[in-house]
Amino acid sequence: MIEENLIQVKKSIPNNVHLIAVSKTKPISLIREAYNTGHLDFGENKVQELVNKQAELPKDIRWHMIGHLQSNKVKYIAPFIHMIHGVESFKLLKEINKQGKKHNRVIKCLLQFHIAQETTKFGLSYQDAIAILENELYPELQNISICGVMGMATFSNDEALVLKEFDSLKEIFTKLVAHSSITNDFKIISMGMSNDYELAIQKGSNMVRIGSKIFGARIN
Ligand SMILES: *Cc1c(COP(=O)(O)O)cnc(C)c1O
Repeated sequence: MIEENLIQVKKSIPNNVHLIAVSKTKPISLIREAYNTGHLDFGENKVQELVNKQAELPKDIRWHMIGHLQSNKVKYIAPFIHMIHGVESFKLLKEINKQGKKHNRVIKCLLQFHIAQETTKFGLSYQDAIAILENELYPELQNISICGVMGMATFSNDEALVLKEFDSLKEIFTKLVAHSSITNDFKIISMGMSNDYELAIQKGSNMVRIGSKIFGARIN
């Protein structure tokens, strides 16, 4: 069943759009099923769950941390994490850098922006991002790489609203590309989930994070 779902989802997205299979709350056995089809990118949103799954599963899986990350927990994922999608403070970025250095790695990060109307969704404003990039200590962060932006739209059937929010993230991305602290690694626009990824792709997403459409509905 997982294989069929993956095939269906992959058919529905263009080749240049990268798929992250969001496996949060789902058992190891289902992740293994997806892995056995050749899929390597998986997303989790809780540190403990991510660490447990990483230990059990093949080491060529690329793990994406897509949830809210507290600075004091970076150390648990720093040895292996492929990409951290939810960077929303300089403090967190500094800690990721410190842990990256310990493990002699450069950790890929995305800046998370607040584009939704809901106040519960985390993220930076454009001005907050500029403040991070222009922090006097930013040039010292040699063990992180800012690879793009991430955002979540309002959970809504109002297509016009969702399109507008995705558009705002695309616009932020385009403005940031020109910033002097931004490098050639800055390429990713991570937006779109099971219910809205087609709209996100219309607005320029090149990385979608899809869970329930692959693994089935979550009970939570
Ligand atoms: C859970 C989650 C997803 C996937 O959600 P689905 O609706 O199941 O596709 C994507 N992004 C983030 C940040 C999530 O927490």
